[in-house]
Amino acid sequence: MISLIEQIKNGKLWRYFGGVHPQENKIQSTRLAITTASIPKHLIIPVKQHIGQGGQIIVVPGDKVLKGQPLTASDSFMSVPVHAPTSGTIEHIAQYPSTHPSAMPEIAIKLICDQEDQALESQPALDYKQLSTAELQQHISLAGVAGMGGAGFPTAVKLSDKQPIEFLLINAAECEPYITSDDVLMRERADDIIQGIEILRHMIKPALCVIGIEDNKPDAANALETAIKTANLSADIIVRKVPTKYPNGGEKQLIQVLTGKEIRKGQIPAQSGVVMQNVGTIYAVKQAIIDRQPLLSRIVTLTGKAFPQPRNVEALIGTPISALLSEFECDEDKAAAIIYGGPMMGFTLPHGQFSLTKTGNCILTPIKDEIPQVREPDACIRCGECSEACPVDLLPQQLHWYSLAKDVTKLADYNLMDCIECGACSYVCPSQIPLVHQYRIAKVEVRESDAELAAAAIAKERFEKRNERLALEKAQREQRQKEAAEKRRATAKATTGEDPVKAAMERIQKAKAAEQTTADGKTSKGSAVADAIARAKAKKAAAASTDTAVPDNAAVIAERKARKTAAKAKREAEGSESVQAATSPAIEAKKAAVAAAIARAKAKKSAAQAGETAASTPAPAVDAKKAAVAAAIARAKAKKAAAQSATTESTEATESPAPAVNDKKAAIAAAVARAKAKKAAAQSATTESTEATDSPAPAVNDKKAAIAAAVARAKAKKAAAQSATTESTEATDSPAPAVNDKKAAIAAAVARAKAKKAAAQSATTESTEATDSPAPAVNDKKAAIAAAVARAKAKKAAAQSATTESTEVTESPAPAVNDKKAAIAAAVARAKAKKAAAQSATTESTEATDTPAPAVDAKKAAIAAAVARAKAKKAAAQTSDSPDEAQPTEPVDKKKAAIAVAIAKAKAKKLAQLGDK
Ligand code: SF4
Ligand code: SF4
Repeated sequence: MISLIEQIKNGKLWRYFGGVHPQENKIQSTRLAITTASIPKHLIIPVKQHIGQGGQIIVVPGDKVLKGQPLTASDSFMSVPVHAPTSGTIEHIAQYPSTHPSAMPEIAIKLICDQEDQALESQPALDYKQLSTAELQQHISLAGVAGMGGAGFPTAVKLSDKQPIEFLLINAAECEPYITSDDVLMRERADDIIQGIEILRHMIKPALCVIGIEDNKPDAANALETAIKTANLSADIIVRKVPTKYPNGGEKQLIQVLTGKEIRKGQIPAQSGVVMQNVGTIYAVKQAIIDRQPLLSRIVTLTGKAFPQPRNVEALIGTPISALLSEFECDEDKAAAIIYGGPMMGFTLPHGQFSLTKTGNCILTPIKDEIPQVREPDACIRCGECSEACPVDLLPQQLHWYSLAKDVTKLADYNLMDCIECGACSYVCPSQIPLVHQYRIAKVEVRESDAELAAAAIAKERFEKRNERLALEKAQREQRQKEAAEKRRATAKATTGEDPVKAAMERIQKAKAAEQTTADGKTSKGSAVADAIARAKAKKAAAASTDTAVPDNAAVIAERKARKTAAKAKREAEGSESVQAATSPAIEAKKAAVAAAIARAKAKKSAAQAGETAASTPAPAVDAKKAAVAAAIARAKAKKAAAQSATTESTEATESPAPAVNDKKAAIAAAVARAKAKKAAAQSATTESTEATDSPAPAVNDKKAAIAAAVARAKAKKAAAQSATTESTEATDSPAPAVNDKKAAIAAAVARAKAKKAAAQSATTESTEATDSPAPAVNDKKAAIAAAVARAKAKKAAAQSATTESTEVTESPAPAVNDKKAAIAAAVARAKAKKAAAQSATTESTEATDTPAPAVDAKKAAIAAAVARAKAKKAAAQTSDSPDEAQPTEPVDKKKAAIAVAIAKAKAKKLAQLGDK
């Protein structure tokens, strides 16, 4: 099987995934030889122009420096110094925008060039074959050599001999369109490059050295082959032409093309036995070892149609871009952009104040027609073109989304740091999304995040180590204390002859035994303690109860309630008295008057019906019963109303000289009631009289009605008899009658006076009627009968009443009515009585002379008369039967009784008078 080296020597090439073929545009800048650019007025020299750490600045503003003098220094292997490209004065050290897509500010040294270009004293060339790799690494590093192909990795780091290197690969592909700096360098300085390769071969001692160059640079390839032959190195150095394809210049891609080795993620080429260096870097190594000149300048391609003569120039590191544009007559007005680098991996500068760095190989100033029109990018359509073009097999569209979202974690997951920034994805993107530009910015963010994580990891490590130290110190301290205790114990034992710990344990055991012994006896120490605790708790609880208990206010509350109750009772009593005193007479008088009026009306109606029934022919059985019942009810009501009315009147008349009746309305109401009663009685009597004298007895058709009337009369007689008996007893048997109430006597007197007046008036009227007109023709026999019956009853009642009245008159004079109101009421009552009597007489006279009395009126009158008599009798009887009720201690009942008696007597007299007439 042919070895890999044999395969490579046989010309075998490999391929990698992805890649594109953009238009080259290299010819226009290779027509002219390399030109040295003038020394500008000043240089802006960034302190850090490589991957890794920046060096410490060893100059200060105002220092005069010579060409090749180091401006920074560092002990780190990953740091390379920067040098003064020419002689001059350090003006200041400050932050300047970095020549980077992020344009983040970075420390830079501004050197004012004195144009004298005075250099340090030159050093003789090093015999590298006599020097070790490390020594050469040191010389290379101090010369400030870093990768000039674009990455800027410190060159010395890669030239270690600690691990075997099989292949030294020289990257001469220069695949980026427009860029020809390596091409012209190889064309013009091929011998220097071969010398440089020899230094590296000496350092790393590879098995084979291969120069990989695209087949679009035949002149450069020929120049190298010539130089190799001249150096007689044809067996050790191979120039391998590879098909032009972008990005062949990528380290991993070219390694894969030349050797077939695929560098996995996270690996460095040295781990696969491969070291790759750019031809420009090889040239810088040659200068550092042979010429003893640090890296002070580089070859840069000035191309694009904005330059009248695109070419490659050798310019000092730190030269402002604007100086180059000016010196080589770039028409900036025509330039569509100033691109630092090639069209694929370069980036646009906003202006020309940026400076040339060690990695800057091209300044492209295309006009509008040279490059696609720049427009606002469209949204990603997920076409996948970028993924197919990516030579690193990444997912550019995913990186696009996460770089916009600044999701550092996701960017790391999708291997952003493996991106070689080739720009193939941007080149094929139909949406013209500046993908590679986004990735560069995202890489900076990821590096910052990684730096923060690294710092956090360091802090965590320090924290954990501190905890470990504290724990160790604590353990040591405890150990020392333990040892000291042991030492004291041993000393005490030696002094006293016994172990102190053992003695203490024995004392404790003895104390416990003593406690148990006490417990077996009466009270153990433990129980005593328990008792003490219990007592303390009890005291505490009692104190808490005392402190927190609610005061016993029951007695106070009871007293308060009693006072309230007493006050309430007092108020009620006072209110009751005042109500009784103020309103009882008035209100009760009103009520009595109203009730009496209603009763009288009903009595009249019932009497009329009864009279009619009695005078007429016997009525049917049903009508008679109803009439009897109605008459009885009417009588009862009339008696009750009369009693109430009499009570009111009597009270008004007898409770003088200071009666409690202050209300005129009450008196007036009482008087009205009395007047109405008299009027009703008068009407009833008139009717009866008319019936008796003017008409023959009616044919009684209703036996039941007659029976009822007879029953009523019997009751009336009985009542009258009882009343008379009572009155007689009161008058004769006792100087102090049972009726002690003067009010009753007064009421009776008043009633009698009223009755007499009414009777006189009625008699006058009747006599007038009798003389002036013949008796009317009474057609209704019933009315006549009822009238006769009524007269008979009236006579009896009158006789009884006369007896009572004489007694009352002899025993007690009429009281002096001091109350004007009562007098007024009496006057009103009398007036009404007179009026009623007059009306009654007029009515009777009219009826007797002009027209016979109607049957209906006669009946009603007879019935009313009967009812009135019955009531009078009943009231009288009740009065006589209840002498005890008229005690001073029961003023209300007493008054009522007296009033009832007076009313009854008055009514009886009136009826008697009417009946006699
Ligand atoms: S993702 Fe990176 S490596 Fe892949 S094509 Fe784009 S720029 Fe090139
Ligand atoms: S090429 Fe452009 S549009 Fe297509 S998937 Fe990639 S980023 Fe999106």
